[in-house]
Amino acid sequence: MATVAKAPSQKAPEVRQTECFIGGRWTPSQSGKTFETLNPATEAVIAQVAEGDAADIDAAVKAARKAFEQGPWSKMDARDRGRLLYKLADLMEAELDELAALESLDNGKPIRDAKAADLPLAIDCLRYYAGYADKIHGQTIPVRGNYFTYTRREPVGVVGQIIPWNFPILMVAWKWGPALAAGCTIVMKPAEQTPLTCLRLARLAQKAGIPDGVINVVPGYGPTAGAALVKHPGVDKIAFTGSTEVGKIIMRDAAATMKRVTLELGGKSPNIVFDDCDLDAAVAGSHFGLYFNQGQCCCAGSRLFVQEKVHDKFVDKIVAMNKSRKLGDPLDMATEQGPQVDREQFDKIMGYIESGKKEGAGLLSGGNRFGDRGFYVEPTLFTGVSDDMTIAKEEIFGPVMSILKFKDLDEIAARANNTCYGLAAAIWTRDIQKAHTLAAKIRAGTVWINCYDVFDAAAPFGGFKMSGIGRELGEAALGSYTEHKTVTVSLG
Ligand code: ADP
Repeated sequence: MATVAKAPSQKAPEVRQTECFIGGRWTPSQSGKTFETLNPATEAVIAQVAEGDAADIDAAVKAARKAFEQGPWSKMDARDRGRLLYKLADLMEAELDELAALESLDNGKPIRDAKAADLPLAIDCLRYYAGYADKIHGQTIPVRGNYFTYTRREPVGVVGQIIPWNFPILMVAWKWGPALAAGCTIVMKPAEQTPLTCLRLARLAQKAGIPDGVINVVPGYGPTAGAALVKHPGVDKIAFTGSTEVGKIIMRDAAATMKRVTLELGGKSPNIVFDDCDLDAAVAGSHFGLYFNQGQCCCAGSRLFVQEKVHDKFVDKIVAMNKSRKLGDPLDMATEQGPQVDREQFDKIMGYIESGKKEGAGLLSGGNRFGDRGFYVEPTLFTGVSDDMTIAKEEIFGPVMSILKFKDLDEIAARANNTCYGLAAAIWTRDIQKAHTLAAKIRAGTVWINCYDVFDAAAPFGGFKMSGIGRELGEAALGSYTEHKTVTVSLG
């Protein structure tokens, strides 16, 4: 591993928003409580942020309800809603460097990734849904008898959106885009580890002219602010991205008020490398598919199946890449890997590394903390991993690659599907028959062939099985922010 030694290329950004954003006003939490958000690279406190709870959620839901039923939002033409979304995207583009730096500071992700991936994808997502705002329409339906029947697609109402810390800005865009295009109003609870960019985006939304109460943000903890949002009778839908464990709690808590729920949860995605692949492409793509974002991706290719014949060559190349990986200050443009988001994640990952060693996997690189400050974990590689080891079954959410060997096509579909998850998968081969045959057999919401982590605002993303319910992105996400209303008229 190479340390990045030179001075950061960008100075730390200014933190300007730390309070709750409710009904267009910035307010402290009603309890007066605050919580610290830390810089995971140094463990220093960046800022104190308002700690919202049930009372603040209630105020935010009331503001969102008012905006939905009485405010300008309810009367605005769909085309004008779209224009506001375009405007927000433009403001984000104008502030791209500053937003990327704030994201990097609060989350620890390398600024080069924030600039090259998080921000452009988020901006693109808002523009994609901006274009949809005036294209959400129903159908006329031929029915039996002398009736005229048509459907309307109406906004589902006030939506509660709870997002995680691994891609804070991008998750805001994935959630706000379809909700606003559909005409919903929003109460968002950002993750407690990374509240800063969501609050900044609320300010930009206000600047763009999105009316008061349409977007409300209440920072705070999951079991307090998050749970209050899920249980609130004034909320019509919850859109959640996070762990499967919390997804189950949310589904239970939402049942009492029969809220619509969409859940984008964890994964243990199989990444399958056949011996007839373009090996260098497979190595580079698999490395990216696991180590990108410090391994903190729900779709990380964390069960890496490599066919026997190419196994050793593949492993050598991954080890070489790990050795030259640059870990360091996330604000330095040369840094390729930053710290994990917090101590809890760091400890959890170190625990999984211990379990891999104990259960007999071969540790070929990494395995340790990197440096003595910040939550850095060396890029770690285990080989000789078997399907029943803990590191092959549970989501690690860190820079820990597990390589499993396989013999042939007959065996691999069953092994790939032998998991409670079904978020993503990848296949590396030059044989198109094999690629498409296997793609159809894998029970996962996304299958990448000869690529990894290719996301697009138009391409639906979400899970089979315990990886979730519903889809983010594309037309699919829009569907989950609208209700179908059937209107039937007697023609006499
Ligand atoms: P992770 O384990 O990756 O931190 P979580 O699923 O715990 O992911 O958190 C994702 C989001 O869910 C965060 O915004 C968190 O505050 C929120 N959350 C956690 N627990 C609950 C809960 N009981 N109800 C609602 N939201 C919650």
